[in-house]
Amino acid sequence: MRGSWTTILLTAGLLGLLALLGGLQYRWLTQISEADGEKAHKRVQEQADHFAMDFNREIQGAYFNFQTDAESWKSRDWTAFNERYDYWRDKTTYPDLITDFYFFEAKGDAAPLHYDRESRAFTPVEITSNLADLRTKLSDEKNFKPVYEESYTLILPIHEGDNKLSRIMIRTPLRNESAELKLPEKYGYLVIKLDPATIKEKILPVLISKYFPEGDFRVAVVNKDGEPVFQPLSSETTDAAAPLFDLSPENFVFFANKDLLKSIDAEKQKSVVLNQRVETRSFDAITTNGDEKEGVKIEIKRDVSPRRTAVFTTTATTKGDDSTPWTLQVQHASGSLDAFIASELRRNLAIGFGVLFLLAAAIAAIIISAQRAKMLAKRQVDFVSSVSHEFRTPLAVIYSAGENLADGVAKDDAKVSHYGELIKGEGKKLSTMVEQILDFAGANAGRRRFNFTLVAIADVIDDALNECQSLIAEKDIEVEKDLPVDLPTMKADASALSQAIQNLIANSIKYSNGNAWLRVSAVTGDGKVKISVEDRGIGIAKSDLNRIFEPFYRADEVVDAQIHGNGLGLSLVKQIAEAHNGRVVASSEIGKASKFTIEIPTA
Ligand code: ADP
Repeated sequence: MRGSWTTILLTAGLLGLLALLGGLQYRWLTQISEADGEKAHKRVQEQADHFAMDFNREIQGAYFNFQTDAESWKSRDWTAFNERYDYWRDKTTYPDLITDFYFFEAKGDAAPLHYDRESRAFTPVEITSNLADLRTKLSDEKNFKPVYEESYTLILPIHEGDNKLSRIMIRTPLRNESAELKLPEKYGYLVIKLDPATIKEKILPVLISKYFPEGDFRVAVVNKDGEPVFQPLSSETTDAAAPLFDLSPENFVFFANKDLLKSIDAEKQKSVVLNQRVETRSFDAITTNGDEKEGVKIEIKRDVSPRRTAVFTTTATTKGDDSTPWTLQVQHASGSLDAFIASELRRNLAIGFGVLFLLAAAIAAIIISAQRAKMLAKRQVDFVSSVSHEFRTPLAVIYSAGENLADGVAKDDAKVSHYGELIKGEGKKLSTMVEQILDFAGANAGRRRFNFTLVAIADVIDDALNECQSLIAEKDIEVEKDLPVDLPTMKADASALSQAIQNLIANSIKYSNGNAWLRVSAVTGDGKVKISVEDRGIGIAKSDLNRIFEPFYRADEVVDAQIHGNGLGLSLVKQIAEAHNGRVVASSEIGKASKFTIEIPTA
């Protein structure tokens, strides 16, 4: 009892520990997954930002580089422009990015100029309908846009200006600007035509393989209306987005006026015109307004040739802004980063819980097999004591019969023959018991060989009954025999089968409980022959029914009632039936009757 309590406590303790481990594991894994998720989101946004920065730098290079003053256009002196063009071609990785340059004057309707690469000069050309369209759009000053992304066109205004003002660029519309920030008048517009093929087939693919080389992210570009410009995504969810075609100054090296920037109050920081050149090395002008950063970062490089001066908006955050012509969208290949992280979490949880489950199963298996070993050991001890007990009675009878003979107690022939019969009977009991034990040991060690020959089943049953004759006679048992005439002749081990039937008959007599009746019957059908032995004895409890075929197993009732036995008979019957590809089944009603049937296939 104490032993079983310890086992129960130990098992409960271990299961509790496993449950605790499971809970902890779940918590840790979810926490790790959340942290990983945050990190991954941050990383992919960073990559998207760098991607956009590289792209925008390319576009900005093709834009700001061509700031020239109005004077050179008026005087048709292309030296400055050519200088800038050569500079750009020299620096850019994509010299095919710009296909054409046109120039319009802001006022009047002089023919547009077109840049001829051969003669390195702008020459007047016929106005095409596209150019005419563009000119109409540009005449609406208030709605000036530097980028017409749908036609891959950049518009760089050329401002009139005093000599102090070098170059001006304004990103946001100036509708709400106050008078003091008014821009100088525009003299004209430089139209920079970009090559869609270079953007789609060179720049974007190169950047994709630079920033998302593993292929675990899909990259798309959509326009202002959300329509795909470059490889649409499979679903709406995006893990990161960044503005493309963004002409904000963050990545651009330019000259600006530090003192003036500082003097402009926050209200008016939307767009700023700087008209003085400074030679300061670098400075930041970033103010934090809530979460949004405002301001520009300006770096100044000395000896940059040609010198550039620029004017920019100071609103650096433009993400998701209406004015962003294109948006870069990044999506995890599995639909979304969250879905991917969730599936990773599920996988990790499955592995973790799988390991815990294995551990629990291993613990259960160990406990079960320990229980089994304990039970088996107990049964073996019981077996040894019951076998010794079984041996004792016949040995005592043989001993005293022998003693009587030796002492000459038996004088007449009848007495001598009586003692002889006694010794013979008890000797047979002993040898049957020894045979049974040896058979069991042999079958368990795999040494038992069955000898299959063609035998008539009726003969086998008769043989078994004959062998049990003395027992039947001794207990005066009424035997009912019900065998059909057509019992088959089939391949079987006659002596093993007979032994199995004998065991069943012997049990029926042993557990008859005084009801001296048994019945041996057989039927054929369904390709089987079924041999049954029934009695009206003590019966078998339901809980014992499926255990009585285990070696050494004996019902508690028979042990308590001191009915002799070793618990091996039925396990031998089972072995023999199985050796014939058959089985043995038992049915019983406690206190009333039992029936054992050996079923073996005839084929
Ligand atoms: P043994 O008879 O030596 O105990 P067996 O293996 O032949 O061993 O039987 C195992 C147990 O099955 C018996 O101890 C008994 O409890 C039960 N049993 C077997 N045959 C019968 C029967 N005909 N009637 C009631 N109980 C039986």
